[in-house]
Amino acid sequence: LLEVKNIEKSFVEGVPVVRQTTFSVGENEIFALLGPSGCGKTTTLRLISGFEKLDNGEIYLEDDLLSSTKKHVAPQKRGIGFVFQDYALFPHMTALENVAFGLTDLPKHKRKVFAEEVLCRTGMGDHQHKGPAELSGGQQQRVALARAIAPEPKLILLDEPFSNLDAILRESTRKEVRSIIKKAGMSAVLVTHDQEEALSFADRIGVMNEGRIEQIGTPEEVYYQPKSKFVARFLGRTN
Ligand code: ATP
Repeated sequence: LLEVKNIEKSFVEGVPVVRQTTFSVGENEIFALLGPSGCGKTTTLRLISGFEKLDNGEIYLEDDLLSSTKKHVAPQKRGIGFVFQDYALFPHMTALENVAFGLTDLPKHKRKVFAEEVLCRTGMGDHQHKGPAELSGGQQQRVALARAIAPEPKLILLDEPFSNLDAILRESTRKEVRSIIKKAGMSAVLVTHDQEEALSFADRIGVMNEGRIEQIGTPEEVYYQPKSKFVARFLGRTN
């Protein structure tokens, strides 16, 4: 579904933050980019969403070229959903209105019903009529997740989407979001520095270090057969 080929990005000349990065994400697959803070995960996601232009390489979605040095499709025309690190909810709308807003493919009377259903699944049913200012950080995060997944885009980009939730809520929200993605036939790219999250949420993981992906594999492969010292150390394995 998604093909990322040899992408590169520098903000300061000669200091690349994403180097020669290549990976693909299949139909209905959840792919995690896992790595330490500052290794270039968010920048990679912003290149896929189109919020950043790349210096080299190509990005394709369903064989359509989205980004290259010569072409740049605008973010809102990519058909990709995203959850930002800072949620970016509309401040003047309730949780329900935030989620219903993007459901333009549905007839008007069905939008709020469906939005409510998705909010209930992310545990926000009781808070649907509150505005962002009346919600905690973790509640806003769950509304942002509901808003991104409700329109069921082919691909969804998730930047640390569970970071503000406590351990119990994190696990239940993760399960619900995973099940919604899988049932709707969506694919996802998740960015996280939390190895446990990547191991439990993703079908495949790309372990990133200093702008490069050091290893791509299933959770079992990267955990039990780390290909470099960095991967072993980052996954908490010392062999
Ligand atoms: P984190 O988990 O902390 O968000 P990350 O792995 O997502 O880290 P990025 O946010 O992609 O890393 O940042 C990689 C590097 O690029 C960092 O050194 C950061 O300072 C730099 N960087 C990111 N965005 C910009 C920008 N707009 N201008 C200049 N430098 C930037």
